[in-house]
Amino acid sequence: MSECRQPPRLVLLGKQGAGKGTQAARLADHYGAAHLSTGELFRAQAASGTAFGLEAKRYMDAGDLVPDEIVLGVVEECLAPGGPLGDGFILDGFPRTLPQASALDGLLGSHGLDLVIDLEVPREIVLDRIAGRRVCENCQRVYHVNSPPTVNWTCDTCGGEVKQRDDDTEEAVERRLTLYDQETVPIIEYYRERGLLTVVDGVGEGDEVFERLVKVVDDRIHA
Ligand code: ADP
Repeated sequence: MSECRQPPRLVLLGKQGAGKGTQAARLADHYGAAHLSTGELFRAQAASGTAFGLEAKRYMDAGDLVPDEIVLGVVEECLAPGGPLGDGFILDGFPRTLPQASALDGLLGSHGLDLVIDLEVPREIVLDRIAGRRVCENCQRVYHVNSPPTVNWTCDTCGGEVKQRDDDTEEAVERRLTLYDQETVPIIEYYRERGLLTVVDGVGEGDEVFERLVKVVDDRIHA
């Protein structure tokens, strides 16, 4: 746990397969901050069969973005005073469009973000990572075909079934990467202009990448 008085408010940007989910969970644990993955939240809703989850799943399985108004409705609830995100949080997979980024500014008001991190990984590497990615349906822990769970595709952490995500098909991945370039890359510039952006190399072992992330966050919050 870091010595800062309040957990930081961070956004993690990066292509599909850049490692955002894994690193965001570790950062949240390290800094005692909440972790919001909009993708995980939608998958959990879809698995519970709620109307909202099933609607989101239609977009997700096609590799499309869930419409801004649906995403914003959910995030607004999470960020509301007394809501589950509290004072410090790591946002993973949100914002993903310019309207979402500007809505987030409005929701946060004067106590804005501390830092936005672009976790940079080349396209060839993310394609390879996603092709081999397997995820626990229950706790969402991420594995790879080259580093599977110890016993028969059941999760080492919770015993849940570990399988390929429904939206990790070649077609959906292609579409998601295209949408990342079209819709999410403009946000990088948006945050750069506001002096909030830092780029971190996401290639390497998980622990190594995590150390890089902690360094840039500590540098910012202790500055
Ligand atoms: P990935 O980054 O690999 O696409 P996520 O778990 O972050 O995985 O998201 C899965 C899917 O959930 C996205 O492809 C999209 O359909 C939907 N989604 C998640 N976050 C958002 C968002 N902020 N805006 C629109 N759609 C979203």
